Amino acid sequence: MPGAEVFPALMIIQLTSLAVKSILLDVEGTTTPMEFVYDVLFPFARKNVKEYLQRNFSSGEVEKVVNMLRKEHENDVARWAEPPFWDTSSKENEVRSIGNYLLWMMDKDKKSTALKRLQGKIWEEGYERNELKGEVYPDVLPAFQRWRKENLELRIYSSGSVLAQKLLFSHSNAGDLTPYLQGYFDTNIGMKNAPDSYRRISKEMKLNSPEIVFLSDNVVELDAAKKTGMKTLLCVRPTDAYKPAPLSDHRIITSFDEIQ
Ligand SMILES: [Mg+2]
Repeated sequence: MPGAEVFPALMIIQLTSLAVKSILLDVEGTTTPMEFVYDVLFPFARKNVKEYLQRNFSSGEVEKVVNMLRKEHENDVARWAEPPFWDTSSKENEVRSIGNYLLWMMDKDKKSTALKRLQGKIWEEGYERNELKGEVYPDVLPAFQRWRKENLELRIYSSGSVLAQKLLFSHSNAGDLTPYLQGYFDTNIGMKNAPDSYRRISKEMKLNSPEIVFLSDNVVELDAAKKTGMKTLLCVRPTDAYKPAPLSDHRIITSFDEIQ
């Protein structure tokens, strides 16, 4: 098995004996294959954005998003980013040109709150219509059940919005996982590479940092968490095993089965 020699024999980590009370989980690359976000979620939003906009243009939520987008577009024009033209000559043209602007932002992977909000609404509809199913690795449900039996609190910290997180876990291929989850954090609490974000999270959880273990596939995030005293585990999923595990001082797991 190529890459297998990278990992030591399976060693079970007993969290409760380490005085851990809560597990904080990253999503992409930890509970969920990276490909789900890039090959399923983003293309779904792309495919449906124009039609969604057209159908919901006069709804309050879309109106709010459009107002945010208008300001953002003005800024883009001012900083010479050359976004597509915002055409106000008719309602039809305006809807079409906003659609083009949104696709342009997606191409640029622009960090836009308005775009994120609209994507969330499009995904919500997709999940509700069963056109989307949140993907989690097969070891996730048994781990959630096992950890909850041990009275460990489970929370999510992802750069995807809290709405997107709740949708993914409530409509997952392993069923509704939200009853296992006690909380959700997104970048509203701070960026994932900033130690302060983890301090705020511990405070919100009313726990001391060493009582929390953070699971992520990203060494920079784990470094930030560790600086605050949180325990950390680096998740290297077997599908990623062809890549060498990143060098770090975080203990590696390849499956949640290793955590009791
Ligand atoms: Mg990740």
